[in-house]
Amino acid sequence: MMKQLTLTRPDDWHLHVRDGAVLKDVVPHTAERFGRAIIMPNLQPPCCTVDDAVHYRQRILEAVPEGVQFEPQMVLYARDNMTADDIYAAADSNIVRAVKLYPAGATTNSDSGVTDIRNIDQALAAMQEVGMPLLVHGEVTDADIDVFDREAMFIERILKPTVERFPELKVVFEHITTAQAAEFVQGADDRIAATMTVQHLLLNRNAIFEGGLRPHHYCLPVLKRERHREALLAAATSGNPRFFLGTDSAPHPQGKKESACGCAGIYTAFAGIEFYAEIFEQAGALDKLEAFASFNGPRFYGLPVNEESITLVREPWTIPDSFAFGDNERLVPLRAGETLQWRLQGSASE
Ligand SMILES: [Zn+2]
Repeated sequence: MMKQLTLTRPDDWHLHVRDGAVLKDVVPHTAERFGRAIIMPNLQPPCCTVDDAVHYRQRILEAVPEGVQFEPQMVLYARDNMTADDIYAAADSNIVRAVKLYPAGATTNSDSGVTDIRNIDQALAAMQEVGMPLLVHGEVTDADIDVFDREAMFIERILKPTVERFPELKVVFEHITTAQAAEFVQGADDRIAATMTVQHLLLNRNAIFEGGLRPHHYCLPVLKRERHREALLAAATSGNPRFFLGTDSAPHPQGKKESACGCAGIYTAFAGIEFYAEIFEQAGALDKLEAFASFNGPRFYGLPVNEESITLVREPWTIPDSFAFGDNERLVPLRAGETLQWRLQGSASE
């Protein structure tokens, strides 16, 4: 049995760190493990302009522990009024990597999202021209579509027509949750990729209802049936370079998760690479982990691979019941109080 695992420093291609006082509690978890992270822009108000991104990036960098190298990769939030000039400004900024499409109402702080993708056609044409990826939250939001079918419906109604209309546009289908999404990406050309989260590779929808209602297993897109989890795991470990790591770690205060109307989002950044090591090992595919975590993302984004490496050691440890979260709140992580098999060497939690 392998005792230790050295990897090129990985990146997290889908991350929420929120803003304000909580940055100092969550950013170090990511920065300890990952060289870069795609920072999701769904703040209130959302991060929509280069100026917003410059300032948000600065606040994140102030929360990175001294001596740690970490580069936030900024993303603009698409709204109905986004123009081609917004994209040219983003491309010139050298800090904005992508644009995020949230169908209006799809998830946390998405109320000002795009109401019809054709409203941003000019921006999409400019993105196609400059090679800037569109990151999609792939769910339709129609009230008459079952919540478990929203991703599959998005592929047919929105994604397929859009990639046909913009044949060179780079697209990352974020946090995919279904066999249909994995098949769509496998069958698409090189400009279409997908991120996969810890929770969608590890859990099926039974986890939401195991012995009672489990708010800490509620995320969007919601967990799906076991056959979908199996399809995602097969895709992640297949060696296809268009699947890569994106935790979608999404912290919320304990009180907003454990509530009559709990927020969607699962916190995994504190062990963002360790969880994937466990998942890939259980699938007998540890040899595929480094490409998934460290090579495929930079290749798709046209960035260099990180130069440093990290080492994971097989040393079971107990996940804390909660972490500090801002001045008065607590943050409950995935699998709180349970055991994780791999530990990051030299981490603060060691
Ligand atoms: Zn997300």
